[in-house]
Amino acid sequence: MTLDQLQELCAAEGFPRFTAKQLCDWLYKKRVDTIDAMTNLSKAQRARLSEIAHIGREHPVRCQVSKDGTKKYLFPVLDSHFIESVFIPDDDRATLCVSCQVGCKMGCRFCVTGQQGFHGNLSAGDILNQLFSIPEFEQLTNVVFMGMGEPMDNLDAILAATQVLTADWGLGWSPKRITVSTVGIIPGMKRFLDESQCHLAVSLHNPVPQERLAMMPVQKAFPLNQVLALLRQYDWSGQRRLSFEYTMFRGENDDLEHAQKLVEALKGLDCRVNLIRFHESPEAPFHTSMPTTIKNFQDYLNRHGVICTLRASRGQDIDAACGLLAGKE
Ligand code: SF4
Repeated sequence: MTLDQLQELCAAEGFPRFTAKQLCDWLYKKRVDTIDAMTNLSKAQRARLSEIAHIGREHPVRCQVSKDGTKKYLFPVLDSHFIESVFIPDDDRATLCVSCQVGCKMGCRFCVTGQQGFHGNLSAGDILNQLFSIPEFEQLTNVVFMGMGEPMDNLDAILAATQVLTADWGLGWSPKRITVSTVGIIPGMKRFLDESQCHLAVSLHNPVPQERLAMMPVQKAFPLNQVLALLRQYDWSGQRRLSFEYTMFRGENDDLEHAQKLVEALKGLDCRVNLIRFHESPEAPFHTSMPTTIKNFQDYLNRHGVICTLRASRGQDIDAACGLLAGKE
């Protein structure tokens, strides 16, 4: 719950207004996992809170560890479902990739999660629990909303969770530590950009409309040119960063013709492109691009004024594709 929501709850219960601040302190600064541990609340308040609320801390039921140090956690949610989060340690960074839905409605053809259908939205509490309940919480430098689900399709929970992470009454993180991804749902993106300062990552994957549509059904309702038109209305020269995710599929979107179309599409937009090596899985009818093809694509973009990096593949031995572990469960 955000401070506003806690204030509403306190008002409804007849608690003093400052109790909401005390609750924030216990929940987000001290991160207690029982209401009984909130020792500056009266006994009666704690008893009443225990009747109407719960902290919602759920520990992961499984952790797979990669030889490169990446860890994949499995959490039970919504009665009989599972979601996963991935902890990615790096030299000076420790990133957690969190899920926001059980399954996903977007149906991207290359994605294992997308093939599982949609089974429900996570609450802000379910999202924050993925951070608070792992032993590495204190090490985290960054959070990316790039796990299972489409953030703009569960935006209230995303905005509440990012508010808890960034507000003074919450964890007080800089919004620069948080990146939220989307396939490009325009109304959600607009609200996100107006109400949050966190970074945005748009899954682009193909600059040719018909080809993108064949991979990503969202292209039909929200074509890429309209997504880019919206993004051009915002200022990206400051602290907030705009990036585009581009997974390289052999023979599909990885030649220099696509690179050229991508450069044209992004002209004048202050942004960067992250290339991603596709992790093959039996569920997806695509193959990984050759390393030289990826290098040529990256060089083309950089030579033509688009900052382009290749994201290191992490945890491949435990992670054939996002959503696989939760899918098995
Ligand atoms: Fe959903 Fe993301 Fe998978 Fe597309 S890639 S189906 S938006 S989880």
